[in-house]
Amino acid sequence: MISRERMTEHLMDLIRIDSPSKFEKDVALKLENEMNQLGAECVFDDVGKIIEGNIGNLIVKIKGNTDAPTFFLSSHMDTVSPGLGIKPRIEDGIMRSDGTTILGSDDKSGVSIIVEVIRTLQEQNIPHGDIEVAFTICEEIGLLGAKYIDINQFNSKYGIVLDSSTPKRLVLKCPTSDIAIFKVHGLEAHAGLCPENGISSIKIVCEAISNMKIGRIDHETTSNIGIISGGVATNIIPNYVMVKGEARSHDNKKLDNEIQHMTQCFNDAAENYSVTLDGKTFKPRIEIEVERVYEKMDVPSDAYITKMVDTAVSNLGYEIDHHTTGGGCDANYFNNMGIECVNLGTGMYELHTVNEHVIMDEFYRSAEIVLETIKLNAA
Ligand SMILES: [Zn+2]
Repeated sequence: MISRERMTEHLMDLIRIDSPSKFEKDVALKLENEMNQLGAECVFDDVGKIIEGNIGNLIVKIKGNTDAPTFFLSSHMDTVSPGLGIKPRIEDGIMRSDGTTILGSDDKSGVSIIVEVIRTLQEQNIPHGDIEVAFTICEEIGLLGAKYIDINQFNSKYGIVLDSSTPKRLVLKCPTSDIAIFKVHGLEAHAGLCPENGISSIKIVCEAISNMKIGRIDHETTSNIGIISGGVATNIIPNYVMVKGEARSHDNKKLDNEIQHMTQCFNDAAENYSVTLDGKTFKPRIEIEVERVYEKMDVPSDAYITKMVDTAVSNLGYEIDHHTTGGGCDANYFNNMGIECVNLGTGMYELHTVNEHVIMDEFYRSAEIVLETIKLNAA
């Protein structure tokens, strides 16, 4: 079985190596070294160059000792801020940072689980098919490692991504996500001498947003305005404001409707304004940019990979729920590229905060589930 002690040590070692997005090299080289020692074939792809990071995705292939179907595993190597000089410690079965940084178990817990499972398979000569691993970069800044990965280098048709909270949940559904940027152009004028000659882009933005339905739209749709910037001085009618927001939905039609609603609010607010100077009429102008960040994933409850994980969990005497989440992950891309992936939790909680922690029993449980699933795949 898995070695709890070894995987705990390994996780702490990984966490002590800084690896913010685009700077994953040190942790990647350690993993490459470990995988080489296990006789795996390791390659760094070119994605690091595309996204201007210091290393690419680490692609690892482990030869099987049976002709079972190839199995895919993935976790991301990068971490969020504040994540430099992390000092992990364990107390009462929970791993935490010293409270000044994140812990970085997102997603080094997933990385460690994969390494431990491969070590265990080899050490105990457990029957398994070929295994393909993608240790990705830059997940935290828009799933970039997965976005640009060359999927043709993999033979796997299905697998497990380890990048969610508890192994009591199996994430099958993640939404499609859009980012929308609204650039509002008004007309500048001296605020004290001739305010009637200006069009305040701040006022237009306020009207637009106050008429906007944002937050939770329905059970599968959300939207948010996250950034507003603009204005120059108190004595100038502001002629430019940039507003950045997002919307997500598990239903692409609803997502389109929400983006359209946000756009309409800006256009309607702008309609109310115009200024005529020397016979010439000025109207505010709205520029809109919408970018699809990632497509949804929607793995059926009765998919082969889902049922295999479910069986593994019940063989081990645990329970697991199928889960829908409002966040995206690398699995969104893998699923859309043709590798059917479920996202299994690793025992990490309060991600992206200094309170991030790992419930160690759940961390071990997650590794047991992955190991058992790979055994079933070769049964
Ligand atoms: Zn993550």
